[in-house]
Amino acid sequence: MNLITRAEWDAKKPSTGYTRLAATRGVKIHYTGGAVRADLPDAANHDHCVDLVQDIQRMHMAGGRGEKYIDLGYNMVCCPHGRTFMGRGPHALPAANGAGLNSGHYAVLALVGSSGLTEPNDDLLNALVDAIEYLREHGDAGREVKGHRDGYDTSCPGDPLYQWVRAGAKRP
Ligand SMILES: [Zn+2]
Ligand SMILES: [Zn+2]
Repeated sequence: MNLITRAEWDAKKPSTGYTRLAATRGVKIHYTGGAVRADLPDAANHDHCVDLVQDIQRMHMAGGRGEKYIDLGYNMVCCPHGRTFMGRGPHALPAANGAGLNSGHYAVLALVGSSGLTEPNDDLLNALVDAIEYLREHGDAGREVKGHRDGYDTSCPGDPLYQWVRAGAKRP
């Protein structure tokens, strides 16, 4: 897996310690829900992925989702260059699945949105499988792979990614 450590993406420290999760039933997949530039997958544009992850962390920690999160809400983030950013990481309670739904599944964000870039490319799908396998190996994630919309009223992770999830979340 092509992992980007928190130091490498210049993550802010969490404001307090994470709530520990011993294990989960699996992983839920998310998208950004907003506009993502259509040319993000271009080889020269990976710097914009780093900017995007930093922006999302800043927004989450500033209360952009209603309350101030202690960190980026996701356990890991995957980009269309086949890379996986460390978020809260394994064995940490995420803050992205909806109230009452965070202890059941880890949360993994894919950098596609509801406009602009909406379709995951093969490199992004491979990075998502890398993240799922990592969370199974290091975080005792179970076999389930679901979408945010499973159990919560949201369009997330968008139809293209959700169809991939429903088809078994396999490598392309
Ligand atoms: Zn979501
Ligand atoms: Zn990237």
